[in-house]
Amino acid sequence: MTEKAIACVEVPHTATLHCPFCGQEVMNPQKAHEGEEYYSACPHTLFVAHDEAFEYRSARFDSALGIAGVENDDLDLPEHGIDGLTSQVKMHGAVKFAGYVPAPSFFGTYVGFAPEE
Ligand SMILES: [Zn+2]
Repeated sequence: MTEKAIACVEVPHTATLHCPFCGQEVMNPQKAHEGEEYYSACPHTLFVAHDEAFEYRSARFDSALGIAGVENDDLDLPEHGIDGLTSQVKMHGAVKFAGYVPAPSFFGTYVGFAPEE
């Protein structure tokens, strides 16, 4: 089977995100707003990131991109930064949810999932 690039779905930046495979609440922007721990990775979570940094990278994500063992600060980011990098993942059934704060910020938050192999 040919691996397709990750599917990208834009969601409201205020949306609470649940894993499409197991239903766990993985990211809650309201908690982030309140300064609480705002994400909780489930076994399907590939990454949790925003434009400034990765909060979470799974081993599957790292191996799909060949970045295992590379520190976040040492990642060689392509054009469009973390948004661009996370869109390069090729994994069967993978989906990326992207929420962007409206203009003038356009600050993005990204969460990726893939079914278990
Ligand atoms: Zn899950």
